[in-house]
Amino acid sequence: MSIDLSTISKLADLQSVRSKWRHNSQTIALVPTMGALHEGHLSLVKLARTVANKVIVSVFVNPKQFGQGEDLDQYPRDLSADLNKLKTIGVDLVYAPDASQIYPQGFSTNISVTGISEGLCGASRPHFFGGVATVVTKLLLHCTPDIALFGEKDYQQLLVIRRLVIDLDLPVDVMSGPIVRENDGLARSSRNIYLSKTDRQTAPLLHKGLLETRARLQKGAPMIKAAQQTIELLSRAGFQLDYFELCDANTLAPLKQYKGQPARLLIAATLGRTRLIDNIAVIG
Ligand code: AMP
Repeated sequence: MSIDLSTISKLADLQSVRSKWRHNSQTIALVPTMGALHEGHLSLVKLARTVANKVIVSVFVNPKQFGQGEDLDQYPRDLSADLNKLKTIGVDLVYAPDASQIYPQGFSTNISVTGISEGLCGASRPHFFGGVATVVTKLLLHCTPDIALFGEKDYQQLLVIRRLVIDLDLPVDVMSGPIVRENDGLARSSRNIYLSKTDRQTAPLLHKGLLETRARLQKGAPMIKAAQQTIELLSRAGFQLDYFELCDANTLAPLKQYKGQPARLLIAATLGRTRLIDNIAVIG
């Protein structure tokens, strides 16, 4: 049987490549994605290449992490464009599993993570982290990487996955990469293509608001005061705020004030029909 090494859609084919690599003592890194790749994803792939001999990128739009009325059907899918991007930076294997490989008929097991997953995005998208935890667990079991890489763009997701890996004793190191932004500060996201031309011009205000709020926090303002102007600015600009919180960087417990502890400012808001999320570290 000849296997196209560039894309594999069946677990059995993946397993045969993977066991050859293992036999040759190759270290493996996995970058899980939902495709529609952009510079944010590619930065993780480039990082992966520096830490492992073999790099797998998975491309799977995971239905379990979309709620009713969300954008599962519209979510951008273009595997051949993704492959072209990955070819330019060099990837050893793309795992684009058929849905049946991830969720075979009768699938009835779900991983749920409590604690870290409950606030922020978990509060407004209650299905989301269960879906993420389930698919990431399956992708880790399919690919058995030494290292799996996730972006800080989805900061709460990163912490949920770190917790999942610890709790289930999954034999993988989780690494993270920094947020890649457009020149105007907007965090890169596959969903940015949903933005109308006008909304695209407004969208960088989200990052600007984070920076301005952080500056006020660093001068000692309590979060409630530090956030006020930003909340007003964003609502005048047409954003519908979902949450805007200062949190402990490790537990995501909400903080009222920045007092030098590891902290993160996290925001989610809808602009037009696009839900945008962003976050920054608060230090110094
Ligand atoms: P997604 O395809 O949106 O599920 O994202 C796949 C991975 O890419 C996740 O670990 C994301 O956190 C990461 N990612 C997405 N956008 C960015 C970005 N702008 N900068 C860094 N990582 C990102």
